[in-house]
Amino acid sequence: AAMRRVCLVGSGNWGSAIAKIIGNNVMKSKLFEKTVNMYVYEEMVDGQKLTDIINKRHENVKYLPGVQLPSNVVAIPSLVDACKDANVLVFVIPHQFVDRICNQLKGNLAPDAVGVSLIKGLSQSSVGIENMSDIIGQQLDINCSALMGANIAHEVADEQFCESTIGCTEETLWPMWKELFHCSYFKINCVRDVHTVELCGALKNAVAVGAGIIDALEFGDNTKAAVIRLGLIEMRLFAKHFFSGVEETTFFESCGLADLITTCYGGRNRKVAEAFVRTGKSLEELEAEMLNGQKLQGPHTAFQVYQLLKEKNIEKQFPLFTSVYRICYENEDPSHLIDTLRDHY
Ligand code: NAD
Ligand code: 13P
Repeated sequence: AAMRRVCLVGSGNWGSAIAKIIGNNVMKSKLFEKTVNMYVYEEMVDGQKLTDIINKRHENVKYLPGVQLPSNVVAIPSLVDACKDANVLVFVIPHQFVDRICNQLKGNLAPDAVGVSLIKGLSQSSVGIENMSDIIGQQLDINCSALMGANIAHEVADEQFCESTIGCTEETLWPMWKELFHCSYFKINCVRDVHTVELCGALKNAVAVGAGIIDALEFGDNTKAAVIRLGLIEMRLFAKHFFSGVEETTFFESCGLADLITTCYGGRNRKVAEAFVRTGKSLEELEAEMLNGQKLQGPHTAFQVYQLLKEKNIEKQFPLFTSVYRICYENEDPSHLIDTLRDHY
């Protein structure tokens, strides 16, 4: 069979860490061509184009400094040029850019292309809430899987062991996805339940905002554990309410409980939410100030989730999600989060 050509759509903090894994894996594989294109949203860094810096120094100095990228990963500023000959597309951009990216790619892909989304976020549409793999799959008319797990980018780039979950409805694609992503420090498990995999990845970011609020209130690990436990219960309830075929076991894959824990301790959402309560600055201001171009998804996800719950008149069944939303967007006193935990069913 012809070798598959891989393109990474995105090159941020996680995009760059995954570029290192994919770049190394394709070198050892007979399934894939050796060159991996990486679409880079062009910007100037210290007077130079980021694509030029990446291609010369093999380092994404802005989004993952200090990590050597394999030299077969080639940064390309044109999305369409990067993707046009690829038949394996790895989507790893912040969720707010997905619509724009799909619009540009529509009609410009190889007929046998398949995709995988590493994007932790939701899309709000006329039919309610949709997962990123569904949006990408529908817009581009491709089969789209999802990879989510307890995978803080800099730890993965540092080759510290972790696990990750791929949700893919087509079992015939599982060996290919494993060959692309699995390595000694990144252990992949495949499941069919793609919807739950993605819901876990998106919703845990909203719970992590709650964890950051707890840290700002200077409550300890027991309180944070209550946030994690109740957060998981609301994640499960949300999944079962809005999606069919939700498997309980998926919550015990890396994409579920494990990602929830790591994000509530080590993630950007936790960190910025803590600063939000401590400083009183706006979330946008703090995102710009603290993340150097990286993006937050948790508050926006809490917003989308709350809009849907409100519309269905079921927000009372989701006290933690509701409280996180109100603290972020309705000036609710952060200390009310403790009351929410106390009064939770
Ligand atoms: P990031 O937070 O580093 O975001 C910055 C990226 O967005 C940069 O590549 C930047 O060039 C790009 N960008 C900025 N404006 C743009 C525009 N107008 N159009 C297109 N791109 C633009 O990104 P990330 O950390 O790679 O996150 C991507 C996804 O991966 C997110 O959904 C995130 O939740 C998920 N994720 C992140 C981590 C992590 O530890 N960082 C781990 C697992 C999953
Ligand atoms: P943050 O976006 O909160 O940093 O979470 C990263 C992540 O998804 C870890 O798996």
